[in-house]
Amino acid sequence: MLISMAIACDRCNKEAIIFQPYSGRHLCRQHFVLDFERRAKHEIRMHRWIVSGDTIAIAMSGGKDSSALAFFLKKAFGMRKDIGLFAVSVDEGITGYREMEKIRRIADGIGIDWHSTSFREVYGCTLDEVVKRKGESRSCTYCGVLRRGALNRRAKELSATRLAMGFNLDDEAQSVLMNVLRGDAGRLTRVRVPKEGFIERIKPFRTIPEREVALYAMLHLEGFEPKRCPYAKNALRGEVRAMLNEYSYRHPATKFALIRLGDALPLMTERESIGSATCPSCGEPGSGECSACRILHELEG
Ligand code: SF4
Repeated sequence: MLISMAIACDRCNKEAIIFQPYSGRHLCRQHFVLDFERRAKHEIRMHRWIVSGDTIAIAMSGGKDSSALAFFLKKAFGMRKDIGLFAVSVDEGITGYREMEKIRRIADGIGIDWHSTSFREVYGCTLDEVVKRKGESRSCTYCGVLRRGALNRRAKELSATRLAMGFNLDDEAQSVLMNVLRGDAGRLTRVRVPKEGFIERIKPFRTIPEREVALYAMLHLEGFEPKRCPYAKNALRGEVRAMLNEYSYRHPATKFALIRLGDALPLMTERESIGSATCPSCGEPGSGECSACRILHELEG
């Protein structure tokens, strides 16, 4: 909760700008930023997500999460000669939604190189065209699969060794809860192992609440006010977000508990062998035909 009355920071006497209900602490700007960056760095260190020689592609949508991530990574690793950083954005082809020029300006302001790709370039069609033929109800499923594939391809072309995603605690907790609500035991227990051809995705903000990522972005950046995707209403995620926020208001540790559950379940299952299969249609990683090619072949059908 953002502070409206003057309350002192629990670390110093300056005015607090945020209250963390799960820690019980009020923090001023300086101590909020220190706490935020310490937690993101801890997550990176714990997973050994960034090591000497890495080149990090930051998936940048132009929203608060990915813009904050680009700013944070530039601040934390921008001076390192042994680590490369650049941003990459995907234009899904949704009329009036993705503003590539705006994203380029944010990346320029942060001081990182920016690259782009699009569904049209990679798959020969836009998301609008997919939706026109397949209907709106699964727009976000198609979009997610195709975006993941497009990002992976572009990042590989640019020799990235890691793909940094701006997912925050809320996104991660919602994903776990969505799998629970769908009864998707396969996804809940799936062990993520490196797959040949897939660049490892890293999520430095996965334990930081969405509103703290938004505050961090607001304190450092401007120009990322989001437009609402016209297909967002079709996403189950919206309902889950509302439900989880309502429950977490009374039980502030719930989102942390959900990601702990999401991390613990795969440890209880057998580890799959490291996959090396490729899709026979496009040569990208996948056992059998990959999800993106399945969607494209459905469209042809
Ligand atoms: Fe894609 Fe759905 Fe997000 Fe729109 S709301 S950008 S369709 S995932």
